[in-house]
Amino acid sequence: MVRGSAAGERAMSFTRRSILAGGAAALVSALPVRAERILPASGPRVVVVGGGWGGLTAAKYIRLLDPGIEVVLIERRAAFHSCPISNWVIGHLRTVDEITHSYVALSERHGIRILHTEVEAVDVDAKAVVTADGVVAGDRLILSPGVAFDYTGIDGWNEAAARRFPAAWSPGPETALLRARLAELPSGGRVALTIPPSPYRCPPGPYERISLIAAYLKQHKPGSTITVLDANQKIVSKGKIFQAAWDELYPGIVDYRPDSPLVQVDASAGTVSSDFDDVAADVANVIPSQRASRLLHDAGLVPDGATWAPVDPYGFTSTLAADIHIVGDATDQTTVGKVPKSGFIANSMGKVAARAAVAALTGNEASPPSLINTCYSLVSPEEGASVGAVYGYDSETGLLQVRPGSSGVSSQRSATVALQAWDWARAIWQDMLG
Ligand SMILES: Cc1cc2nc3c(=O)[nH]c(=O)nc-3n(C[C@H](O)[C@H](O)[C@H](O)COP(=O)(O)OP(=O)(O)OC[C@H]3O[C@@H](n4cnc5c(N)ncnc54)[C@H](O)[C@@H]3O)c2cc1C
Repeated sequence: MVRGSAAGERAMSFTRRSILAGGAAALVSALPVRAERILPASGPRVVVVGGGWGGLTAAKYIRLLDPGIEVVLIERRAAFHSCPISNWVIGHLRTVDEITHSYVALSERHGIRILHTEVEAVDVDAKAVVTADGVVAGDRLILSPGVAFDYTGIDGWNEAAARRFPAAWSPGPETALLRARLAELPSGGRVALTIPPSPYRCPPGPYERISLIAAYLKQHKPGSTITVLDANQKIVSKGKIFQAAWDELYPGIVDYRPDSPLVQVDASAGTVSSDFDDVAADVANVIPSQRASRLLHDAGLVPDGATWAPVDPYGFTSTLAADIHIVGDATDQTTVGKVPKSGFIANSMGKVAARAAVAALTGNEASPPSLINTCYSLVSPEEGASVGAVYGYDSETGLLQVRPGSSGVSSQRSATVALQAWDWARAIWQDMLG
């Protein structure tokens, strides 16, 4: 049993060397050489960064697997906000309150110490995180900070553009903002939506959003249209089903333009442009390119010039630092296997990382990983489609592979899937937060 808490004994010194070794030269002047340590550990401890889909699951399952291990969860937001179902909120089918949930059960029922603060840096050598409130150290770290947005390459992107063209693609207030802007749209209004190149979080997500905005326009804003500039060659997920829904349910409303990366915006004119078209819009939603959170780049957990964090999927440990797990959308699919960047997958990764962390802290072998995913998408308020698979570990490639016979996609849209989608969301929120 490895029960002694290294974190409790370790002197917390954030030296210029350890920060530079992490590849974060830019941080050197921003960090104190010796930062104040908070929450001293009294036993084995895992520090989890990010109270989203991956981090929450990991935190809760460590406590379920071994209540003797202390878990500190660090999350900037006071409440959990779900991206899954947020398109339903934008489409005025559900409210913001219905996708916002309390973290309280995690501390009251599972004894997780939750710190609501900003993580400013990760010290991989010390297995510690620097927060706005001080430094928290652990025996292992599990990092699930999600994605960062990358607006480089978009001419005209500035603060005014960020206000005018919200992404609404991470937990936060932009979901409500986009919903409100649609409500203010006049009849005959013009909506634009831009889709980044894959991989991005939630492959079918933009297409579900297009569908639900189109349904809202059809019902509430007669004569309005939505123009889509998609950087990808074709619809990335459930293509036939989305295309059929747009043709049959929203004729003349959805104008979909593939192979049209966003290259320019003009915030004062309200236009978004590809190399071929300038699209003028009353409401525009720019979903930008994505990459692993800045925290991981700054900590040297993403190689120079790369976009995502490489991991060994057996326990979702970083391939670049010992005793550090990385889960969720920030992980590099080329090192994981062809899994989508989804909440369900982040939830599965969180469980695998929890088992691996507990095994390491108790001197046991981790069991082989298995992940599960189903992505439900509405194509209208009444109907949806799903795609799913189970992934197992292939010891020859070291990657997760779809288990034979386990994958499938809906052959057509159906009301049953729409009902399942809501049931799935409620069940998995309970799994993470209950
Ligand atoms: C519109 C939309 C619809 C979607 N629909 C589905 C769906 O139907 N099914 C599905 O499976 N997936 C869906 N997804 C994808 C899903 O939301 C993501 O895959 C999932 O959130 C990834 O989990 P994560 O833990 O990697 O990141 P997140 O869930 O984003 O969690 C990261 C957390 O870390 C916190 N954080 C980040 N940096 C810091 C810091 N420096 N300090 C403190 N806290 C920090 C953030 O506040 C956040 O709470 C959807 C996504 C979108 C945008």
